Amino acid sequence: MNVRQTPRAMRSIPGKVYLVGAGPGAPDLITLRGAEILKRADIVFHDALVRPGTLALAARAEKIAVGKRCGRHSTVQQFINKRLVDAARKYHTVVRLKGGDPMLFGRAHEEIAALRAADIEYEVVPGVTAALAASAELGVSLTRRGIARNVAFVTARVGAGKAEHDWAKNVAAADTAVIYMGAGQAAEIAATLIARGVPRDTPAAIVENASLAEARRFTMPLCELARAAELGISGPAVIMLGEVFASALLAATEEPTTPSLSATA
Ligand code: SAH
Repeated sequence: MNVRQTPRAMRSIPGKVYLVGAGPGAPDLITLRGAEILKRADIVFHDALVRPGTLALAARAEKIAVGKRCGRHSTVQQFINKRLVDAARKYHTVVRLKGGDPMLFGRAHEEIAALRAADIEYEVVPGVTAALAASAELGVSLTRRGIARNVAFVTARVGAGKAEHDWAKNVAAADTAVIYMGAGQAAEIAATLIARGVPRDTPAAIVENASLAEARRFTMPLCELARAAELGISGPAVIMLGEVFASALLAATEEPTTPSLSATA
């Protein structure tokens, strides 16, 4: 039989590792469970994107930054995996604190595999992913009834040495698409999508620093996404595409003083 219930193993290592989603940035957008675990954590390994206000919840823990922005360095990842395993042998409550949700674009699989291989107990605590915080910032439902029945969370990046994944095909097929880690390549992304036949006037949005006081929102048709370079985006940002953003685009362009590449802070 292929359906099995996995028994809880008796473990010799007392430490437990929690992969906790920190949420998109605002310290009060972590789950209650995540906050409670941080409070009793002995050691926290956190991403670069995790804000000081969230780290402050781990009052008694040693805090170690292991962030690798863009997260493509496999040796760095192996080092993180090893540190988690080592920490579980030494501490009771170990937290791997990741931006947004730990299971989306966060290499959680590799960390979980390392913990399993070392027979270390772990638990994943979900978090609010950037796409949902950005949807909230815009006040736009990603699955607005009658317009969108699906949402694709996509990244245009692929790991070094990996075959090129056809992310553009996924974006073109989705009613609503949210592109992570792509704001720096907005021009290339737009060109690739247009070349694939995505209509040039597809409504698009960029949301930077979603959930934070310094959040910025921009709306534009896809063909103007290339101008994102002019926006001076330095914080984490998602690119969003789909008809559901038409109302946001329209609202911005209707304001007489607003340029077509419209910003709302
Ligand atoms: N696990 C995370 C994603 C990690 S990849 C999550 O679930 O959100 C990092 C990317 O997430 C960034 O390059 C950016 O595209 C996006 N991101 C993270 N925080 C963000 C925020 N506050 N606002 C907008 N985008 C954000």
